[in-house]
Amino acid sequence: MVLTRALPLLYVKNSAGGSDNARMTQDFTTQTMTLAAGAGMCSLSQLLGACDALMQPQSFHDYAPNGLQVQGKPDVQRLVCGVTASRALIEAAIAAGADALLVHHGLFWRGQSQCVTGWMRERLRLLLTHDISLLAYHLPLDAHPELGNNAQLAVRLGLEVQGNFGEHDLGFIGQRAGGGAFASAAALHTMLERELQHSVLCVDGSGGAPLERIAWCSGGAQGWLQAAIDAGAQAFITGEASEPQPHLARECGVAFFACGHHATERYGVQALAQRVAGQFGIACQFVDINNPA
Ligand SMILES: [Zn+2]
Repeated sequence: MVLTRALPLLYVKNSAGGSDNARMTQDFTTQTMTLAAGAGMCSLSQLLGACDALMQPQSFHDYAPNGLQVQGKPDVQRLVCGVTASRALIEAAIAAGADALLVHHGLFWRGQSQCVTGWMRERLRLLLTHDISLLAYHLPLDAHPELGNNAQLAVRLGLEVQGNFGEHDLGFIGQRAGGGAFASAAALHTMLERELQHSVLCVDGSGGAPLERIAWCSGGAQGWLQAAIDAGAQAFITGEASEPQPHLARECGVAFFACGHHATERYGVQALAQRVAGQFGIACQFVDINNPA
């Protein structure tokens, strides 16, 4: 996957009064990137079949339905992809004239309310009114060895995959591509912030030592720190942090990095969308709704 263009098409800033706090929480930016400029068309079932063939959702025990979550029009000329099926992303898909929306985080999760009210009603209303299909792939899109979030994160960060650990092989472990250690946790921290364009929380339990064996798992995988240490990692890179990890990192002598859930999961969905768009010659855009978490 090569992203050659990053066009900030729209900057949305809520400045219509309200308190400073309201303004801060509602500020967000939207970036749109063209991944494929095809003028072709495919059926929704062809698109779904291609995604399913790549993602193999039947192989996963997931807590979200993988595949077609909302059925829209039967033909697809324009695909939009993004990380999360938020209202902002759905509105961006409508503005882009999308026939289908492909995401990593869909609408439905085990344990959530089954009532179509409030924000859920609004997201569904927008999709159904505009006849836009929603396709979502969660764990399959983290795990895919080429197109997945972790594989694509490795490309982005210049890491070489040497093995996997944990359920569904979602944990990745390896080293700097081409060999050699990162000079220190500080050096790795700088690289992460530069490549992900996001602030990174770093807990350096390694005492400034060079870091050669690096493990990573995108999103909310902070609970996998122990598994990463057991797999031999000197550093663990994920999206989120919770209270226990800094202690564990210090006491086990490893470096822990929380780079943002969203920031670590921007790349898999682009790779999948670009692959299937190329297969059918359809147009495809990635819309990045900035998320500080
Ligand atoms: Zn996630």
